[in-house]
Amino acid sequence: MLNIALFGPPGAGKGTQSDILVEKYNLHYISTGDLLRKEIAGGTQLGHDAKNIIAKGGLVSDEIIVQIIEKTIVENSESHGFLFDGFPRTYVQAYILAGLMIKLHTSLNCLISLELDEEESVNRLMERGKTSGRSDDNEMVIRNRLREYYDKTLPVLQVYKDKGIYAAIDSKNSIDQVNSDVDKVIQNELSKNLLNIVLFGIPGSGRGTQGIMLAKKYGLEYISIGTMLEDEIKKKSKIGLKIKEQRESGLLAPDEIIVQLIEQKLENTKGAKGFIFKGFPRTLVQSYILDGLLQQHGSAISEIIDIEVPTLDAMSRLHGRSKNEYAKAYDKSTDKIINRMHEYEKKTLPVIEKYKTLHNVKKIDGVGTFDEVFERVSNEIEIGFRNL
Ligand code: AMP
Repeated sequence: MLNIALFGPPGAGKGTQSDILVEKYNLHYISTGDLLRKEIAGGTQLGHDAKNIIAKGGLVSDEIIVQIIEKTIVENSESHGFLFDGFPRTYVQAYILAGLMIKLHTSLNCLISLELDEEESVNRLMERGKTSGRSDDNEMVIRNRLREYYDKTLPVLQVYKDKGIYAAIDSKNSIDQVNSDVDKVIQNELSKNLLNIVLFGIPGSGRGTQGIMLAKKYGLEYISIGTMLEDEIKKKSKIGLKIKEQRESGLLAPDEIIVQLIEQKLENTKGAKGFIFKGFPRTLVQSYILDGLLQQHGSAISEIIDIEVPTLDAMSRLHGRSKNEYAKAYDKSTDKIINRMHEYEKKTLPVIEKYKTLHNVKKIDGVGTFDEVFERVSNEIEIGFRNL
């Protein structure tokens, strides 16, 4: 998701810039001013409560704003992102926005402040008042609205400056110039967006082979806990020695070790367009760990893909592998294979169930040749890139 807030005094051009951005980036536009005017036109209780305040150029209560904005956000939670115009306008609303973003498991990418001096704001709004039909576009009300802006809204900027997600743009320039400056900020934000994919599938479903090739094709970093653990064992590192026995009996490695390995990997990977996680998260605890690790990097899960293969097919694939040179230590007996299947069923299926309530889990038919399955998963990843 791409979530942007446009900030600035009345008349700075937030509405004009919003029209261009909404079209270009396919965002859902939320103007609290427009929503309030709709409530007034619809004759609702909310509109009735807001009407007199708006007419005088004051700010309506945060309670009213929560109600109108929450409804719109929840109804449009599947959109590519939100563009906020005229919100947040108070300190309290900055917290409301943060809470709403958490509810959607996303965050605000950037607050873009369109700067304009007071007299220029007045001139522009007086000019607009000739045609806008807005009763609050007259000089006395305009002065009130600006006073509210400087007293209550401008201090909110500090919240976003402190978070490092703030960009200022000189709004005196032409519409095209301002738009090109805003666009630069957004492009920069988009380049930070990573595509993070979690690949599920029972042992033997082909997630490993698919994951490696997908990572190569799309410039993603492949993170396989199994491979990382094996490397540690091969290196006979401290971690390797600790996990060797558990590994061979098909048990899961301790989370403290996995966290360390992934942390290192995320830290040391520069320039990847994102990550493909295979074999992680395997438990509910690990699903929380992954959220935390990604959040530390200003990122989040983008897509969940579940490669579905009937258990008997997967068992027979693993049995086949146990006889060739790709055999893993834990493929070597039916007991071990069954053990891993049990662990998956007991601990990993609940993770997929959890994700189903939070994300759109894409099920991919994993039966067929490698190329057939690869094409199916590739299509999903391309959709993921388009949605970024
Ligand atoms: P706008 O269309 O953004 O200029 O808003 C017009 C009027 O609606 C403002 O002068 C306020 O009275 C009210 N309003 C709009 N958004 C908010 C908000 N986030 N908080 C409080 N009042 C708002």
